[in-house]
Parts: sequence; C-alpha cells; structure tokens
Amino acid sequence: MKILIIGGVAGGASAAARARRLSETAEITIIERGPDVSFANCGLPYHIGGEIENRSALAIQTPESLSKLLNLAVLTHTEAISIDRKNKSILIRDLSSGTASTVTYDKLILAPGASPLIPDLPGIELPRVHSLRTLQDMDRIMGDLKSAKSALILGGGFIGLEMAEQIHHLGAKTTLVERNPQVLPPLDPELAKNLATALSSNGIDLHLAESLTHIEPGLTACFASGLRIQTDVIILSVGVRPENFLAKDAGLTLGEKGHIRVNPFQQTSDPDIYAAGDVVETKDAILGSYRPLPLGGPANRQGRTIADHIFKGEKALPYPGSIGTAIVRVFDQTAAVTGHGESFLKRNAIPYQTVTINAASHADYYPAAETITLKVLWTPETGRILGAQAVGKDGVDKRIDIIATGIRGQMTIDDLCHLELCYAPPFGSAKDPVNIAGFAACNLREGLLKPIYDLPKPDSQIIDVRPAAKAQSQPIPGAKNIPLLQLRSRLCEIDSSQSVFTICQMGKTSYFAARILQQNGFDAHSIIGGAHLNL
Ligand code: FAD
Repeated sequence: MKILIIGGVAGGASAAARARRLSETAEITIIERGPDVSFANCGLPYHIGGEIENRSALAIQTPESLSKLLNLAVLTHTEAISIDRKNKSILIRDLSSGTASTVTYDKLILAPGASPLIPDLPGIELPRVHSLRTLQDMDRIMGDLKSAKSALILGGGFIGLEMAEQIHHLGAKTTLVERNPQVLPPLDPELAKNLATALSSNGIDLHLAESLTHIEPGLTACFASGLRIQTDVIILSVGVRPENFLAKDAGLTLGEKGHIRVNPFQQTSDPDIYAAGDVVETKDAILGSYRPLPLGGPANRQGRTIADHIFKGEKALPYPGSIGTAIVRVFDQTAAVTGHGESFLKRNAIPYQTVTINAASHADYYPAAETITLKVLWTPETGRILGAQAVGKDGVDKRIDIIATGIRGQMTIDDLCHLELCYAPPFGSAKDPVNIAGFAACNLREGLLKPIYDLPKPDSQIIDVRPAAKAQSQPIPGAKNIPLLQLRSRLCEIDSSQSVFTICQMGKTSYFAARILQQNGFDAHSIIGGAHLNL
C-alpha cells in the first residue's frame, strides 16, 4: 500500500500516524510545502504574547523525529503541483532546487489546509502587514513587534481576538477593527457584548462595523467611514480560504465555497483520494447540510478516519459530521459556542426556540463563583438541541462541552434537565447551569415562562423585582420597583388591564415574580437574562 499525503500538519500528520499504527508495511510519504510538519498552529498567538515561552514547544515533531517515529518519508520544502488521477500520480516540485518529479500512489490524502484570506486592497502588500499561519509568519510578526509601539488587528474572529489579547500583553497600544457590528460573529450579539467590554476595559481600542478600503505607506489603515489608524504593525485575521487548487484542477467535487466535498469516510468524489481538515466540507451533524469547519479537532479526527478506512474498509468508524464547537479567551472572559446560534438559524429560516440563563460557575456560597451566561437553542417541535453559547469568567468550557456531547447524542432540552453532573461546592452546584438551562427551556415550552428577549419600551408596565437598593443604584428605564418579597402584598399597584414585564438581575427572580402574577390573573412576561444581560 503506497500512501501519499499532501500537507504534514494537523490532518496529514494524524492520518500518517494512524496509518502506521495500522500497518507496519505501508509505504507512507508526506509532502509538505513548508519547512515544518506537525506543529501547533493553535499555539502561535501564545508564543507571540510570551505565554508559551519556548518556540520549540510549538514543534510537536520535527521532520526528522516524525520520520523516525513513524518510519515514513517526509519531503519538506516540496510542493504538490497537480494530480494525475488516471495514472494515480502527482507532480511535485522541490522548492529549494526547483526540480520537478512524479510520485505514484495507491491512496492519496489531501490535507493542504486553508490559507489566510488576504483582501485585494491597495497597500495590503506593504511591509509590516502580516497574516499568521506558520512558524515563519510568527517569527516575522515577533520581529516587527520588537520595535513596535502600536499594532492594529483587522478581524475580530477567534484568531484576531487571541492576537489582540497577546499583543496587548507585550505593551503595544493595540487596536482591533471588525467589519461586523460585533466581535466573534458565531456568537450571538447580546453575548458578544461581554467580549467587547473585556477588550475596551483592558485598553484595546475597539472599532466595530468598519470596512478597510486601503493601507497607506507609513502604515495608515483607512476605512470606508473615514476612520484612519496609523500603526506600526498590522495583523490580518479576516478568515481563511481552502487550499483547493489540486482538487479543483483534478476535477474533484467541490462545495459552494470551494471546499472538497467528502463522504463520512472522508473520500472525495474519487474513492482513492481522501481529504481532511480545513480544505473539506463534511455533513453538518445537526442539520444534515454540508459545512466547512476550519478547526484543529475535526482535522485531526478526520485524518484518523481516513487511515481507518484505508485499512479497515467499511468497518472503520465514520466521521459523524461536524457540530461546530469552539472557544476563545479574551482577558478574563471566555466565550464558547457549539452547534448553531440564533443569528445563523434566523438567517437560514430554521425554526428554533431559545432561552438564556445566568447561573454561578459553582455553588454561589463557595468563594470565587463567577456568573456564566448560557444560551440554549432547540427545535420547537422535538426539543432537540440545535446549539448553545456561553460567556463568563469560569466554567464556560465545561458547560459548552457538556452540551456539545448532548448534541452529538441527539439529546433534547428534557435530557438537559436530568444530566447528572459533578457537584461539590468548589466545582458545581446541585443544579448545574446546564440543568437550569434545561429547566428554563422546558418551562418555556410548557408556557410557564413567557419570555421577552429585549427590554420593553419604557412606557410599558415594567416591574423591577430586585431589592430596592439595587433598583436605585442601577435603574431600569421606565420600571417600577416592587421587590419580589413584597410582590404578593402589592398586587393592587399593578394594572391588570395591560401586560406586565418583570425584570430582575439574573433572570431567575423575574420568572418567580411572573409566575406569581400569572397565577393572580396578570399577563406577565419575564425578561430573559435580566439586567445582567440587558443593561
Ligand atoms: P494545516 O494544519 O494548515 O496544514 C496544511 C499543510 O499543508 C500546511 O503546512 C501547508 O504548508 C501544506 N500544504 C498546502 N498545500 C500544499 C501543497 N500543494 N503541497 C505541499 N504542502 C502543502 N483550531 C482550533 O480548533 N483551536 C484553536 O485554538 C486554533 N487556533 C489557531 C490559531 C492559528 C494562528 C491558526 C493559524 C489556526 C488555528 N486553528 C485553531 C485552526 C487549526 O490550526 C486548523 O484548523 C488545522 O491546523 C487544520 O489542519 P489541516 O491539516 O487541514 O491544515
């Protein structure tokens, strides 16, 4: 068995390692354009900021160590140029000597990844304008940052946010500009506000809804609104595009955005050619449509699936499709997502219901509990979970991982209510935030909770049920304060001829208040997420 692998990092190296563990006799060759294989791309921002001190920690394997460990050939500085499917061969070029040659395969694995999107705008090619994909990009950025007093990051996605945080650690005046009206577009806007606050309160100069038009020499970034930012270094992190030219030229089936379409065994439209990682689109495990997901976890697991299928055939464990689970830290805030958010579901006209709760990361009577804001979305008809998102200082990763597992298990909101999770005061609560989200979702479905997702107009009948001191220190426009404990004795102060909107700090007490009111004949609605989310 002659296996040829294009790309020697996440997907390619995983496929190679698994293939060797399944066959000591297979002839395995990795073709890699760069000087490195199997390096930790995800760690690059953290070496730039100094959190990962040793550069060598990022090189998980060198070409030599990988070659020895797995007994395979690693050709670095070598680019695959084209595929001859008929003769099962590829044309490669040694980038040092320029020499071209042909190598044959029985099975070909494409794992060439995705390259950073470089907008075609005047000045984009100027020195000190960078993108970040390789160790060499990282070295160049670090070189320029040594003498930089300021840096501008274009793009507030996962990598842009990480870079803003890390460059700020170095002491440079850091500016982040995002084209959308919020950072981290996979997160819904009301949760993304926390990240914007974390950026601004840490001294990052944040500009939203700004479109770059060009960059002037001397390094001034110019935007459509007239905004101009003079800076010493620019980092472009505005997305990635699949490196699909080999597949495209070979006539393999591509999806709408140019990703290679694969089946659950990662086979392309040519069964002897597999593909993994950022270059592919797989089935969306929730909706069944195709979706690309340029993340490290899927790339690694898809690589493994390929080797399994080559050696085990139909007995291999198929890749079950992607869910879309991702996380980012922005100073003291963490944001994580799994499945689909409200913005996506709305855009695609997919029916959903949603609830957002605020709950403590562990028992609130035990020191250092932090608030987690957790939003869950589900299908109205079946209750099946479509997605979840969370922000907070602690415990966000755990809750989103739990719900990601639930999505993989096709769980419903009812299942969330009775998940039995770890509890001792330092770790969790007797009712974990995930259980509470399940309870709130079921209450909503049963009509016990009538949700309102935004602050109503100030001329509506809004009852603030927080303690008087809190209501005074953080007033809610148009609200009358009747603390929960006084509500039953002050019902006569509420006009039963019009709707009532209850609000509290976290969204829980307002639900209790709305239940009291509903059972006394009022049309009462609870404002989801309380003042914590809406003010
Ligand atoms: P890659 O890892 O990009 O490897 C592809 C390789 O193929 C490259 O080395 C390239 O040189 C080579 N190649 C391409 N074309 C050819 C050719 N024609 N001939 C020869 N060689 C070729 N994901 C997460 O899940 N979490 C994170 O925190 C995270 N952080 C990231 C931070 C940064 C800065 C970056 C850049 C990415 C991050 N990612 C993260 C994404 C993750 O690294 C990718 O999803 C993953 O590496 C994709 O694996 P891949 O094998 O498809 O491609």
